[in-house]
Amino acid sequence: MTNTAFPWHSTQWSLVRKQFANDRRPHSMLLTGPADLGKREFAIKLAAFLLCSHPSEQEQCHNCAQCHLLQAGTHPDYRYVDPEDSKLIKIEQIRDLNGWLVQTSQQGGEKVVVIYPAEKMNNQSANALLKSLEEPTPNTLFVLVSDQPSRLLPTIRSRCQSFQFTPPDVATAVSWLEQNAEIHLDLHLALSLAGGSPLKVKRDINDDFLNRRAEVVTMLDSLVAHKIPALAAAAGLQKQDTREVIQIVLSLINDATKICLGSDVQDIINQDHLEVVRRLAEPGESFLFGACDQLLTTVREIESSANPNSQLLIESILIKLSV
Ligand SMILES: [Zn+2]
Repeated sequence: MTNTAFPWHSTQWSLVRKQFANDRRPHSMLLTGPADLGKREFAIKLAAFLLCSHPSEQEQCHNCAQCHLLQAGTHPDYRYVDPEDSKLIKIEQIRDLNGWLVQTSQQGGEKVVVIYPAEKMNNQSANALLKSLEEPTPNTLFVLVSDQPSRLLPTIRSRCQSFQFTPPDVATAVSWLEQNAEIHLDLHLALSLAGGSPLKVKRDINDDFLNRRAEVVTMLDSLVAHKIPALAAAAGLQKQDTREVIQIVLSLINDATKICLGSDVQDIINQDHLEVVRRLAEPGESFLFGACDQLLTTVREIESSANPNSQLLIESILIKLSV
């Protein structure tokens, strides 16, 4: 284990450490960047570092009373706020947090709050939090973590110092994966499919994503080659997660669009399915733009509906693509 949660955090870690060492610490931080880069782990690591009584230059000691309380999940000066069992961070959670914030630190040191995913606060919750961000109690640090900071209230964003996380370079990602995952696949392809995130590759390996993807690609290929009708293809994908199927199809459509627009083959993400991508590209870019629109609309429908009719949504996408 390196002294940061992940090796690609070292720049952000040094930056934060320097600010704290020079007493230029922010009251509120916002960690942003694509999903699956370990921003939440970074926030938790920072909390542990600040709460520890005897941290080394780089990390918590793991041995003091503070570290033990934190490991046991019972540190009275640390709060982790997430959506719990609902989709949102509720106003009651923030009110409860605000009540805790005004109390003095029980261990006599820092108080740290981690909020993840911060964009899951609705307007009410965000406004309730804003009051605490505007009048911070001394020695309190807020660490908000968000994959989609544009969904946060601008007033919240403007109160926080922003720390941006980006995917690591391929060499760092590959080296980390070789040490931390059971590898039996083309890592460059897997990284490309995962938007450069080694943590997503690891999860994809563990939860069999590549096999599910292979099923979707096979089905889509048969469909565009007119070997099976749309309804049969949809039935074949019935057991899969609709949102994931859409993301896989969208990735192929994006690649097909690149082909239509004359991009280099090395810019194609789905390198292992170039034939399928080329077949999808045959109807031309305006067809693909339309398909892409429909897919994005469907994603929004799924996100906004409590109980979307997934089968129907997949069928209408596949009917469109089979023309
Ligand atoms: Zn410690």
